[in-house]
Amino acid sequence: MCVPGCQEAVRNALSRRGFFTGAVAAGFAATAIAPEPAEAAPVRRFKSTVDLTHTMSPDFPTFFGVPGLEMEKKFDIKKDGFNLYWWRIIEHAGTHLDAPIHFSEAGATAEKIAAETLVVPLAVVDVAAKAAQNPDYLLSREDLAGWEKKHRRLPDNCCVAMLSGWAQHVSDPAKYTGKDASGVFHFPGVAPEAADWLMKERKVLGLAVDTLSLDNGPSKDFKVHYAWLPSGRWGLENVANLDKVPAAGATLVVGLAKVKDATGGPARLIALV
Ligand SMILES: [Zn+2]
Repeated sequence: MCVPGCQEAVRNALSRRGFFTGAVAAGFAATAIAPEPAEAAPVRRFKSTVDLTHTMSPDFPTFFGVPGLEMEKKFDIKKDGFNLYWWRIIEHAGTHLDAPIHFSEAGATAEKIAAETLVVPLAVVDVAAKAAQNPDYLLSREDLAGWEKKHRRLPDNCCVAMLSGWAQHVSDPAKYTGKDASGVFHFPGVAPEAADWLMKERKVLGLAVDTLSLDNGPSKDFKVHYAWLPSGRWGLENVANLDKVPAAGATLVVGLAKVKDATGGPARLIALV
């Protein structure tokens, strides 16, 4: 389930762990005369990390139009000797994960999502040029075919991410939500047919978008949510910096808050490139 570089990195990390365990044991036996190791410690194989997470704040645009985060300073270092806030958050605000239970009666809650399914190959499908022409753009089956034509078949257990270019509008809530005079949102999403094809024809664990929702702004029936999440797969919304990672070859690490019974939650998303 790892891309090649990831597998290397995991193997190296494991062998390093073994090395340290051995070194500690040897250290007790021969404290001051520990020999120089013959080999240099293995290095991690990814070259860089890209943060795919927006900074969360009360100003971040939300689906509900109210702040997704409230912070109350309960302790102050000058007065109390340390700093600490109490937070009140909407589970689904800012860069966050949708767990299967979000749109199903019995799907997995956040804490039940296995860690091994949260470190996955990342496939970025660039539809920014089309979305710039049409804010309601739906990532299509053809867009997926276009990605595969260039990069070969989608890797097993990957996350497919839509790059619509919307992340650049995040500090402009009117543009980011696209809310019109009648209260209808306008932002890109994934076509239900495309999600359906990914579920039936490929082995995909996650679907990610750089907009407020997997379904596009005007959607009233949330078809993608209702198909994708009950199938046991997860979603990511409000993803940042997808234009800074390669379309193929990166590994996505989803750092999801592990909260019992949560329907999702804020996530720190990091791409290993
Ligand atoms: Zn959500």
